[in-house]
This record gives sequence, structure tokens and C-alpha cells, in this order.
Amino acid sequence: MKNILTGDRPTGRLHLGHYFGSLKQRVELQDQYNTYIIIADVQALTDNFDDPDKVRKNVREVALDNLAVGIDPNKTTLFIQSQIPEIAELTIFYSNLVTVSRLFRNPTTKAEVNQKKQVFGNEGESITYGFLGYPVSQAADITAFDADLVPVGDDQLPHIEQTREIVRKFNHIYGETLVEPEAMVGKNSRIKGLDGNEKMGKSLGNAIYLADDEDAITKKIMGAITDPNKIKKDDPANPDICMVYYYHKLVNEKNVDTVCQECKSGSRGCVACKKELIRSMMEFLKPIQARRHYYEEHPELVDQILEEGTKKARERAQETMRRVRQNMKIDYFKN
Ligand code: ATP
Ligand code: MG
Repeated sequence: MKNILTGDRPTGRLHLGHYFGSLKQRVELQDQYNTYIIIADVQALTDNFDDPDKVRKNVREVALDNLAVGIDPNKTTLFIQSQIPEIAELTIFYSNLVTVSRLFRNPTTKAEVNQKKQVFGNEGESITYGFLGYPVSQAADITAFDADLVPVGDDQLPHIEQTREIVRKFNHIYGETLVEPEAMVGKNSRIKGLDGNEKMGKSLGNAIYLADDEDAITKKIMGAITDPNKIKKDDPANPDICMVYYYHKLVNEKNVDTVCQECKSGSRGCVACKKELIRSMMEFLKPIQARRHYYEEHPELVDQILEEGTKKARERAQETMRRVRQNMKIDYFKN
């Protein structure tokens, strides 16, 4: 069986963007692949090092969200990054194979730095060594498990490319050691935010969370951006610039053609349209929230899943590390 490595940063609960961008594929693929899901707390700390409570709390939330969408711990290995020291070890060796200017050219890193500048002003410009280097650490996450495939949203493509470059360079210098992974992006590789922003993101405040209750969903959808030229209820409108229509396409597939036609012809008011979306959204979230609720009620089960998953993941990473040590000629003592 081939291997998959994918995961999330524990910086907040997971949202619709994660679901359509990555979680849905993970659940579908877990039967055909050896799947490893990393809760990337080390990566989350690169830009949240001053808030360890936030990261710790969200390790649990992210685990719950994965289990809630149908990740089956009997098929999939769910683990915590910081507890696998081999990943940190690999990161150090990979650092030699990447130039600083190459890291600065990474478009996703650039976008994230710009986003921080908007929030923190010029302070956002002073990025750390750790943050600049997180794609190197991500290369270690992926290769430690000999991942063949990495299902991700399209913001991750530059990072996967960086990983492939590291693998090629490593294998060229030290001999065939690492597996070169491929990214897998689904058709919904970038879900937009409620504010119309190109990316729904945990750090952007524009998300519909998988765990949101009906009140929260209602508030968010009632406030979503619609066609600004539609003033009266029966004005015809353009669904293509309406966020409500955009989410109908995701969670109300069976009725989306009617929504589109009625919007264009002016026979559907925005309030009614939003109410229908709220109902469809709650219907879509119902089974996810029921599973989440079950695991929330059984915290010891979640602890056990994480502990066993981390132990199994560590054994797998140790195997890779043995190969790496041998080929880098740093296997001084036989163990
Ligand atoms: P942060 O802002 O802290 O980086 P995030 O919302 O970007 O949080 P991550 O944990 O970085 O979430 O991403 C986890 C996975 O979900 C990645 O594969 C990423 O590409 C995917 N993803 C995140 N947001 C979206 C989105 N809006 N659409 C599609 N995929 C997404
Ligand atoms: Mg991200």
C-alpha cells in the first residue's frame, strides 16, 4: 500500500475550507492508502511561539475535527508532530540543502508574511528563522513517512515543490534514500471566505467552522456578501458574485440549479435564499457534529487515539531515520 501524509496546524478549529480542500479526500482515501495525519504543533509554534496555550488547546480541537468528519483511527494514524524528534532531526539535515533566497521566494510564505503585516503593522516584517524555514520542516514531516501522496489545498503546492527539490538533492548527494512525494489537489482546492476573500482561513476570521452551532451559522450566513446591485427582493441578480450562492454549490448540490435560475430571474429574495442555505448547511454538518459530540463525551478515547497514533508514527519515522543516518554516514554506533 502507498503512503499518504497530510495534516493541519493546531491554530484553531477546522472549517469548510479544510473540509472541501483536504478532509473529504482524506476520509475517502484512508481505505486505499496507509494514511498518516499530522497535527503540526511545531509548525503552529513557528508563528504562535508566544501562545503555547492556544496551540495545546487546538491539538485537541483538530483531533476532534478529524475524527468528526470520519477519520477512522483503525485505518489512519493520527499523531502529534512535536512528539516525533526524528522530524526535528531531519529538518536540521535538510536545512543544508535549501538556500535562504529560495525560501524567501516561496509565494505562500510571502502571502502569509503580507497577511501578518496587515494585522501587526511593520512588526510583521520581522519574520523569524523558524517561520522562514517551516517549509523545510514540512519536508521532514512528509519524507519521514515515505509519503507518496500529499492531499492538500493549493496554498500548499509551493511547499510540496520545495519538498521534492530537497528529496532530489538529498538522493543525488547521499544516494537513493527518500521518496519524492506528489501533491494531490481536489477540485475545491481553495474555498473562499465569508467576506469574499480568496481563502477561508482560521487566521482570517472569515470561516464557517465544522463545529459552529445553528446560531453562529445563522449570524454568519445572514451577514454574507451578496450581489450589491440587488436592492429589492425581486431584482434579478448575478449569483457568480454572491457568497451565498457559492456555498449553496458546496452543501446544497441537489437544488443548486434552481437557486441559480431563481436568482438570475429575480424570483428569489436574498433572505429566503440565505434561510435555505442555513438549513442545508445544518443538514450537511449534522453527522459531523454528532460524531464530534461522541468524542467530546469520551475524552479518554481521544487521548488513547493520539498516544497510540504517535507511538506508531514514531516507529515509522525511526525506520526512515536509520536509512538517513546510514547514507549520510553518521551511523557511528550500532543500536
Ligand atoms: P492558518 O491560517 O493557521 O495557516 P489554515 O486555515 O490555513 O490555518 P492549515 O492548518 O494551514 O489551515 O491548513 C490545513 C490544510 O487545509 C492544508 O492542506 C490547506 O491547504 C487546507 N486548507 C486550508 N484552508 C483552505 C481553504 N480555504 N480551501 C481549501 N483548502 C484549505
Ligand atoms: Mg495555513
